This record gives sequence, structure tokens and C-alpha cells, in this order.
Amino acid sequence: MAVDAVDFKALPKIELHAHLSGSISRQCLHEVWLKKKENGEILDGLQDPLVEMPLGKHDYDLKTFFPLFSSYIYHLVNDIWALRHTTLSVLRDFAADGVVYLELRTTPRTMPSAGLTKAQYVETILSAIAEFESQPNCPPLRTKLILSVDRRNSAEEAYEVLTLCRQFYGKGVVGLDLCGDPEKGPIDKFGPVFEEAKRTLPELGITLHFAEAEASGTEEELLTLLSWKPDRIGHVIHLSDKIREEIKRRGVMGLELCLSCNVHAGMICGGFESHHFGEWWKVEETIVVLSTDDVGVFGSPLSNEYALVAKHFGLTRADICSLVRRGIDVIFGGDEEKERLKGLIWTA
Ligand SMILES: [Zn+2]
Repeated sequence: MAVDAVDFKALPKIELHAHLSGSISRQCLHEVWLKKKENGEILDGLQDPLVEMPLGKHDYDLKTFFPLFSSYIYHLVNDIWALRHTTLSVLRDFAADGVVYLELRTTPRTMPSAGLTKAQYVETILSAIAEFESQPNCPPLRTKLILSVDRRNSAEEAYEVLTLCRQFYGKGVVGLDLCGDPEKGPIDKFGPVFEEAKRTLPELGITLHFAEAEASGTEEELLTLLSWKPDRIGHVIHLSDKIREEIKRRGVMGLELCLSCNVHAGMICGGFESHHFGEWWKVEETIVVLSTDDVGVFGSPLSNEYALVAKHFGLTRADICSLVRRGIDVIFGGDEEKERLKGLIWTA
């Protein structure tokens, strides 16, 4: 069957690499900004999101991307109302795009102006997820949470994230991630935290941003990250042959690949057709899961990521269905969820 016969939106999909704050649509950020303005809340000179991030602008690179969060979005989403409102909006957007299983990730942060602790931050997101899933006629989307350690964090802050994973494991938190500006380092200080996570909470999934940029793609760093025994790695761009072989040798590791993000941010050379998806998707020893990273910034929903690989790499309908289906094996959401997905995901 021709691939154009696939309705990529209707195709039930699994999203495993999506940052909560980066997944908020500009329209939703605009709503938050308007409401705060109407309420007379001080916005510290924050511009309308539709001016700060004009619709259609998706060419954020690693230099402009991270400040967008630290100096803009985090200042706008700074209380329980905004956190709940934006989380619900993100869930609605993923559900409308045909995503049936979502692992959202976020770095727990305090919201000083609202008196919110990191634990309350996590609680607020989990309760928004529960609220979404308990609505009448709820779409089939089920969502879990991954807590991220930011590379800028101290070892102490990273331990705090692990403590929160422990506190909320079984209540919606399923994984621990390492993320953040790849120019920031070194990462060795986090080793004991990830090792402790593996040792004391083995059911918790581990995923790591991996070789996102040249600065974070040294053999030394990548071998260190692999020594933490991640279940999945994200981006996987700047690899030497030795690291490539090491990934294959370790077997059945999930690779979270984000095409539009990598192309729009200029993280790879060339366009979609030169993306390393082409190198990995047929490799037996690994499982490729297409993901969006930051759909609010890069503007490409997951349905479009599937359309892109079909177009640029010639995947058939059978290839597309088996790509989604293989992803079930590397979710962090547990066996019951895997069974539910096996019933939902299309067979070729
Ligand atoms: Zn990411």
C-alpha cells in the first residue's frame, strides 16, 4: 500500500521524548500572558509570547533555545494556575494528534513567587494528568512523567530530583533524565546519582540526552553516560565508530530521535534526508522511537515526524506500523500499559 494512504494523525502513536515546557503551544502561552496581564500581575516587562516567539518561527538553535526557557517561559509559567493550565493544554494537543501514550519530562523547579516547592511542582503536574484522564469521554492518551536533572544542576540538586523520583514513583513518575545545555558540563558529578537510581530503584527508567552537540559528544563523556546503563538515549548525533559499536553491543536500547528539532536547530548537517534516523531505524539491536522534543518551539507534531520519515526514507505502511509497535518495548510505563498499547497500536 502506498504510504500516502496512512493517516498519520489517526495512527496511534507513542511519544517518549517531550519536554513539558517546550511542548506548550504559543497560543496557550499567549492565553497565560493575557490572563496575567488582565489580573494586573507584574510580568517584569515580559512581551506577548506571540511577539517573543512569532508563529512560524522555528529556527531556534542551541544558542537561542535555552535562554528562551530560563529568561522567558519559566517567568510566564510561574504559579499553580499557569502550570495546570499549560499542562492540560499540552495533553490536549498530544491527544488531538493521535498520541496514545506520552512520557512528558520536566526539571522540577521551585516557583518562589507562588511559594511552590519542587515536590508541589511535580504534584501539580501529576494532578493535571489525573484530571485529564478522569474527564468523561477521555481520549485514549495515557501520560507518565520523567523527572530531569539539568546539566547546570549541582550534584545536590540532582540528588533532590532522585528523591522526588522515589517519592512519586508509582504515582505517575516513571523515569529519570539528564538534559540541558550541552555546552554545560562536566557531567561526572551526576554519576553517583544515576548509579544510586539503578541500584535502589531498578524499576525507574533511565534516559539521557546523548551526543546532542559536539561539546557533549566526546568519547569520554559518552562512555561515562553509557556506564550509567541508560535504558534509552536521546538525540544520538555526534558519535564515533567506537560509540556506535558500543551502543549496538549493549543491545536493545531505545533511541529517541527528534528529526524536526535536529534539522530546525541546525544540530545536524543537511536536511531531513541526511538525518541519522536513516542509519538506525533498521538496526536490530536498537529500538528507534520518533519524538518531538519541543513541539511548542519547533512546531512539528508527532504525526508530522512520521510523515517526514515516510517521505524522506521511503517507509511503507508496514514499516510505519512496526516502527510504532517496536517502541512499546522501551516505554517506562510498565507491563499493564504495554499490554494496553499492544491492543491499540496498528498492525500492518
Ligand atoms: Zn530533549
